Amino acid sequence: METINEITDKCSNLAFDLNFRYAKHWKSKNEYRVLVGYLPIYFPREIVHAMNGLAVGIFGAGDRKQIIRGDAYYQSYICHLPRGIIEMGLDGSLNEFDGFVFPATCDCIRNLSGMFKLAGKGNFQRYFDYPQNFNSKVGGIFYRQELDKVMEDIRKINRQHASIEDLNNSIRLFNINRRLIEEIYAIRQEFPWRLSALETYYILRAGMVIPVEEHNEMLEQVLDQLQKERGEPMDNIRVVINGSFCEQPPVGLIKSIEMAGCYIVDDDLLLGSRWTIGDIDDNTDDPLEAMVTAFLNQSTFSSSVYDVGNPKGARLVEQVHRRNADGVIFSAASFCDPALLDRPELQKACDAAGIPHINFQYHENTGQFKVIKEQAGTFSDSIKLWA
Ligand code: SF4
Repeated sequence: METINEITDKCSNLAFDLNFRYAKHWKSKNEYRVLVGYLPIYFPREIVHAMNGLAVGIFGAGDRKQIIRGDAYYQSYICHLPRGIIEMGLDGSLNEFDGFVFPATCDCIRNLSGMFKLAGKGNFQRYFDYPQNFNSKVGGIFYRQELDKVMEDIRKINRQHASIEDLNNSIRLFNINRRLIEEIYAIRQEFPWRLSALETYYILRAGMVIPVEEHNEMLEQVLDQLQKERGEPMDNIRVVINGSFCEQPPVGLIKSIEMAGCYIVDDDLLLGSRWTIGDIDDNTDDPLEAMVTAFLNQSTFSSSVYDVGNPKGARLVEQVHRRNADGVIFSAASFCDPALLDRPELQKACDAAGIPHINFQYHENTGQFKVIKEQAGTFSDSIKLWA
């Protein structure tokens, strides 16, 4: 069994390999395998898995790539993520990918799908829309059609058909994956010093670029070792991070928040891996319908989804209470419309519930964290002294 340190080292390399060598190697072993790149936030990877494919999260270039041509494709007043991804598309990093899915997160990602189409990247460039109507006869039918379109895209490439058993099996594996992740979060809620937020981040992000079977094995090993004491408890406050669901903050930022005296007990980093709350039915004659039902009824909250009847502010407050957190750090990518437009409502909900909060913005390639560290440190001290 590998130690947690060995696993996190491996995961940090996998997670930030912008050439996706592991995924490409996986594909090279079988001529029917396909690689489908997808962007944040959420994409139902089960359907790709069931069709002999690997869904690979493309979550930005971070601070690891110089943007040369990417800037020419976008105006200056948008976030950084699409520039890095178009750069990766143009410099050949994504060449072995068979297709790309662009979830309906915001207009920037919608436009990126058009750019990939114009540039002829992959065999398909699918803009993947989500229902904003949660009636099964309206949004449900719509969502099922969206699932069918991606499956048809893949079918045209590898001529594979997903049987009911294939789909049930894929759902089962991703159920296990989400359960293991939730168990790790549950342990961190009680003993956050046993696995730092950064280690957790590496482990989760690696899961976006490797087969789910391998990720499940890793998570089981981590979980097993987390049963025993590891690390030292610190006099830290406990915070929930909100707003980092799409463009990912640089790892230095996550580290700075922790070093400033904050245990991150929940967050929306890599939210797609925990999008569905609870299991999806994996023993059914209609697995696609089970996925549709889960999307309509078991999705987490996010700024990219309409929340009629189930307001995000109330869900954030519930999350803070459930995690026994002391406050919220609103940390969003600069120019991220969905996160920044939601923020006043979320802050209002926190104020009404007496939950302290601070906020700042970042770029995925931000290199200076001194100001953020001071801000988080002051937040931590103020809660310890006066809350
Ligand atoms: S960071 Fe925000 S604005 Fe940028 S692509 Fe993601 S959701 Fe859209």
